[in-house]
Amino acid sequence: MEIYSGKSVFGGIAIGKICIYKKGQQTVRRTKIEDVEAEKKRYHDAKAEASSQLQDLYDKALKEVGESGAEIFEAHKMMLEDGDYIESVENIIESENVNAEYAVAMTGDNFAEMFANMEDEYFRARSADIKDISERVISILLGNGSEGIKSSEPVIVLADDLAPSETVQMDKELVLSFVTVHGSANSHTAILAKTMSIPALIGCEIPLDDSVDGKMAIVDGFEGKVYVEPDEETLAKKKVRLQEENEKKDLLNKLKGKDNVTLDGQHINLYANIGNIKDLALVLKNDAGGIGLFRSEFIYLESEDYPTEDKQFEIYKTVAQTLAGKKVIIRTLDIGADKQADYFELPKEENPALGMRAIRICLTKPWIFKTQLRALFRASAFGNISIMYPMITSVEEVREIKKIVNEVKEELTNEGIAFKDVEQGIMIETPASVMVADELAKEVDFFSIGTNDLTQYTLAIDRQNQTLDKFYDSHSPAIMKMLKMVVDSAHANGIWAGICGELGADLTLTQEFLKMGFDELSVSPGRILPIRDIVLKTDVSKL
Ligand code: PEP
Ligand code: MG
Repeated sequence: MEIYSGKSVFGGIAIGKICIYKKGQQTVRRTKIEDVEAEKKRYHDAKAEASSQLQDLYDKALKEVGESGAEIFEAHKMMLEDGDYIESVENIIESENVNAEYAVAMTGDNFAEMFANMEDEYFRARSADIKDISERVISILLGNGSEGIKSSEPVIVLADDLAPSETVQMDKELVLSFVTVHGSANSHTAILAKTMSIPALIGCEIPLDDSVDGKMAIVDGFEGKVYVEPDEETLAKKKVRLQEENEKKDLLNKLKGKDNVTLDGQHINLYANIGNIKDLALVLKNDAGGIGLFRSEFIYLESEDYPTEDKQFEIYKTVAQTLAGKKVIIRTLDIGADKQADYFELPKEENPALGMRAIRICLTKPWIFKTQLRALFRASAFGNISIMYPMITSVEEVREIKKIVNEVKEELTNEGIAFKDVEQGIMIETPASVMVADELAKEVDFFSIGTNDLTQYTLAIDRQNQTLDKFYDSHSPAIMKMLKMVVDSAHANGIWAGICGELGADLTLTQEFLKMGFDELSVSPGRILPIRDIVLKTDVSKL
C-alpha cells in the first residue's frame, strides 16, 4: 500500500480504480503565413466557435451543478472577448507573419504568466482560466477533438491539473473523485468539485505513471489522503466510513426540497448559521430555507483594520444574491469578549463577557456602526436581507439603534442610493432582554434567541470555562422557561421568534421547540436535514 497526501477541497470517501486523465496533446508549430487578414479571420472564427462551445458548457453546467458552478463559463466567454488579449493575438500575427495557433499560444502563455505573478491569490488562480481558454481556441484551430475519460466504470480521476471545462465535460457518472498534482483551492475546478459533492484533493504528490494508473485506490477527502492498493484492514475501515456517508447522503436526498411541516400541519423555518461566505455552498447543499445568523464579526476578525463600507457591501451583496431571494439575517458586529480584534483597541477588562462588546461598541463608537449599516442597507437592494442586533438589554438601546439607522437611511436617500426597508430584529441573549421581551417586541420585527450567551448569563457560567462543564446544564428549566416566555411575548405582539444559539440544533429538543411554537431554528448547515427529519415525523398535538 502506498499513501499520498494532498490538500482536501471536499470531504468524502471514494473507492475505485485510478484513471490518469491525459490531456489532448496540442503541439503548436510556428509557421509563416502570407495572408495576415485571412489568418486573423481564422482566429476570429475559432474564437466564435469557442464562445459557442462555452455557451453549451454553461448550459450543461447549469443543469448539472447550478448557477454558481456554471458562472465560470460565462467568465471564460468574457475573457475570450478581452480587448488586450485580442489585440495581442492580432499583433503577433501581423508583426511576425505567423499562424493564429502560435499567436494564441504566445498570448495565452504571456497572460497566464502575468496572472500567475500577481499578489492576489484570486487573480493568481485565474492563470489556469487563461490557459484553458487559449487551449480551447488552439484546439479548434488545430481541428482537435476533446479528450475524455477512457473508462466504462466509475474511476478516481487523477491529473496534473484540470481546467474547469475539462471537469464539466467529464461524464459525471464516471467520476468518483478528482485528485490533482497541481491546482489551487480557489480554482474553479475545486469549486466545481465541491458543488458536485465528490471528494477532491489538490496539490497531491502522486506519480502520474503506470505505478498508479489502473490500480485500486481509496481517496479519503476527510484526511486528504490517497491509498493506492490499500491493505485489507484499511479497505474494510474505509468501506464502513463510505457506508455511513452514503446513509447520510440518502437522508439528505430523501429530505431535500421538502417543506418543514409536522404531521399536524405546523410549519417551522430551518435556516443556517454561517460565519463566512465560504460556507454558502453548504447552506445551499443542505437545503436551508435561508440564513438565520450571519456572524458578520468574522469580516472584522479576518481584517487588519476596520473593513471598509465597500468591502462589507460586496460581501453582503454576494450573500444576498447567492441566496436569491431567501432570507439572509445578518447580525451586526459582535466583537468583544472572546472575539477580539486589536485595532478596536478595547481596554483590558476584568470581565470581558460583561464588558464592552457587540452593540455596546456600536453605540459607543457610532461611526463604526454606521459604516456597517450603510453597507448592509446598500446590499439590501440585491436580495432579502434582515438586520439583527446582538446583546440587547433594554428598550432604550433599541431606540438609540433606530435613531442611527434613520440617519443612515436619510444619508443614503440624499445620495440617491437604493435600499430596502429591511426587517430588523434583535438577539435575545441576556436575561434582561427576556424580562422585557414584551416591550421589546413592540419595537422590532423579530426575536432570535442566542442560547449560548443566554445560558452563560443566566446560569452565571463562563461559556469558555471548561472546568465548569459539570454545572453547565443547557437544558436547565430556567432556560426552558425563558424560551417559552420569549416566544409567547413575540406572538402576543405579532412578531416571529427563533433560536440561533447552539441549543437550536439539539435534536433531543426539536419537538419541545415545536411545542413551544418557535417559528424558526437557525443551526449549522449539516443539522438542517436531521431536524427536518424529526419535524416531518412529529405530531405536535400528540406531544
Ligand atoms: C449566542 O449567543 O447564542 C449566539 C448565537 O451568538 P454567539 O455564539 O455568536 O455569541
Ligand atoms: Mg451571543
